[in-house]
Amino acid sequence: MSSGTQVFDWTVPKEWNIRDAYVANSRGERVIDFHESNLHVLNYSIPVNQKMSLNELSSHVYTLPDHPDWIPYRTSYYNEAWGFCMQHRKFLALEEDEYEVVIDSTLEDGFLSYGEVFLPGRESEEILLTTHICHPSMCNDNLSGIAVLTALAKALSTMDCHYSYRLLFMPGTIGAITWLATNPEAVTRVRHGMVLAGLGDRGSVSYKKSRRGNAEIDRAVAQVLSSHEHQIRDFSPYGYDERQFCSPGFNLPVGRFSRSEYAQYSEYHTSADDISFVSADSLGDSFARLIEVLQVLETNWRYRNTNPYCEPQLGKRGLYNQKGSDEVQQHLRLALLWVLNLSDGDNSLLDIAERTQMPYLTILNAAETLRGAGILEIES
Ligand code: ZN
Repeated sequence: MSSGTQVFDWTVPKEWNIRDAYVANSRGERVIDFHESNLHVLNYSIPVNQKMSLNELSSHVYTLPDHPDWIPYRTSYYNEAWGFCMQHRKFLALEEDEYEVVIDSTLEDGFLSYGEVFLPGRESEEILLTTHICHPSMCNDNLSGIAVLTALAKALSTMDCHYSYRLLFMPGTIGAITWLATNPEAVTRVRHGMVLAGLGDRGSVSYKKSRRGNAEIDRAVAQVLSSHEHQIRDFSPYGYDERQFCSPGFNLPVGRFSRSEYAQYSEYHTSADDISFVSADSLGDSFARLIEVLQVLETNWRYRNTNPYCEPQLGKRGLYNQKGSDEVQQHLRLALLWVLNLSDGDNSLLDIAERTQMPYLTILNAAETLRGAGILEIES
């Protein structure tokens, strides 16, 4: 989408590119160097090539006095500015001098680019999964979202799915607004969705509900997370791109799946959000829970008991005594009875799992067993 394109109340901005940036002292030594960390430059900085005193430079320098060895991440998207971000300890060590200040960047008409993966399913209704890609030099926010969504794309591409899947890798805010403004037809096909962000830190899984609050996606996630340490938050019009998907004109059933809440950890938006801040276990756990959520959405149908007048005789169908200990057998039998009783064409499997407080997988297995025995059929 070209710079200058109007997207709802917003305009696609100019494209920013940077080749080099540094501050050098009078001996020609680089005291700040973009090639050491790309966080050193205020993102979206206009080009600069000037000599100046330390005092003049200081008004363009951002540091974190409470974390003197970390580099903060700062942006200036919507007003033209330039600046450097650096370790507070190194800033304090700068001497009075005449500094050469160079930001070799361009801010010109160009394009807003985003990545889109579309995986057609048996139905045209879509599950929308998105992540932001605007500052991938930090690990949890936001490289972890990119990594997990990429892994999901790979996994989903080998599966035979009911829903079609649309995976979007976009710059935060303006990317989501641009996609929503330019894909009105795809928007109407979104049946469920999640914004993925912050999936690698060591905190427990968390989910922020859609604006609707009780959409099927909200219930599916709650069901999956119920057997794990987790947090569920109500919707608020702040956060990541769920703000756009859940704006009142769209009100899409899109929640946000994360681990620790963004901005609630001090490493957030600093150089300390690096590879050591995320763990492979957390990334894997996020991926596994997301696959479980998708499995619920992919199987949550309504069934009808084809033998609804009194209980069907389980014994003669070999369903009364199943494998396992007495306790396991009793549990499975109870699941069969619940699924038979509640499958009147109105209750979905998720409804049954919620009402019985039994794990969704137990209910799903019971439904499949009963369907195999010919006493249950899919209603919708
Ligand atoms: Zn961020």
